[in-house]
Amino acid sequence: MTTTVTDAPGRTRRLTGFQPTGRLHLGNLLGALRPLIRAQDTTESIALIADLHAMTMEHDPASVRRFTLEQATVMLAAGVDPERTPIVVQSQVREHTELHYLLECVAAHGEATRMIQFKEKSAAGGPIRLSLLTYPVLMAADILLYDTTQVPVGEDQNQHLELARTLATRFNTKYGPTFTVPEGVRPDSAARVMDLAEPTMKMGKSLGTGQIGLLDPPEVIRRTIARAATDQAGRVRRDRENQPGVTNLIDILAETTGRPPSDPTSYAALKREVGDAIEALLAPLRARHAELAKNPDFVRRVLADGAEKVRPIAAATVRRARAGIGLLN
Ligand code: AMP
Repeated sequence: MTTTVTDAPGRTRRLTGFQPTGRLHLGNLLGALRPLIRAQDTTESIALIADLHAMTMEHDPASVRRFTLEQATVMLAAGVDPERTPIVVQSQVREHTELHYLLECVAAHGEATRMIQFKEKSAAGGPIRLSLLTYPVLMAADILLYDTTQVPVGEDQNQHLELARTLATRFNTKYGPTFTVPEGVRPDSAARVMDLAEPTMKMGKSLGTGQIGLLDPPEVIRRTIARAATDQAGRVRRDRENQPGVTNLIDILAETTGRPPSDPTSYAALKREVGDAIEALLAPLRARHAELAKNPDFVRRVLADGAEKVRPIAAATVRRARAGIGLLN
């Protein structure tokens, strides 16, 4: 299991990151994991479990550790092939933090404070960790470390990708060619899954009752779907503005089965179909997860192996950055 990620010129390399702040959900699967798995034959990818990012807000150490291992296990269960797609825990490749510091030396304070996510999260009140301000720079380090050429991004991540591009270009201009400047891509197959209870918001790890965890038992999934917000229109059709809940259910059905709803009038029938489709999608994943979870040492080895595979790329990048910026190598 120790082939090194190749570094051929003209190659494509994608980095997809997941924060171990909670359980992976249907949005993570349809929006990030499945596109990654589908592209495994044609595109080199790294799946990054960004545990350092999970500490930018008040956190529980035991939960971060647990979710890190759980997310890796779910990725394997979903079909990530670690032979082709290294699964890497960010903190296990120390070059992330070293490059973070070097990039802070070319980033401006104003660039960090302008980040929308910083503004939103810091507005919530309570003490603000300095790492919340600087984490987009760490994210830039995550991307640039691996000579990433493509970063799958949703709209809310555009600003972070732009910062990575800006810092790479600035560093290259000031200190000589060092980093590959990445492009944002939207994989064709990536869906944006909305919260089932609050369908105007993206399904996320921290919302309340409208998320479908990939390991949720069938009865919990059925209940979540049965309670999904709909409307009074009584028509099963896509209309994101006026019928966001129904539109989300139709989209989930299309993503999971490739089929439109069979009955254009019944929300109950739509929910039943969505429930069946999700159960068909998740039952095999749940079963594989149950098997893998019996052997956490295997999963830990996969992670150690992932780190080992990508470390040479990370080390080479940091060596170039150190030399450029004036450090003794
Ligand atoms: P996060 O859950 O924020 O760590 O995101 C991990 C990956 O899942 C990123 O590539 C996100 O863009 C993707 N993702 C997260 N939530 C959703 C969602 N509701 N719909 C589609 N993709 C999502």
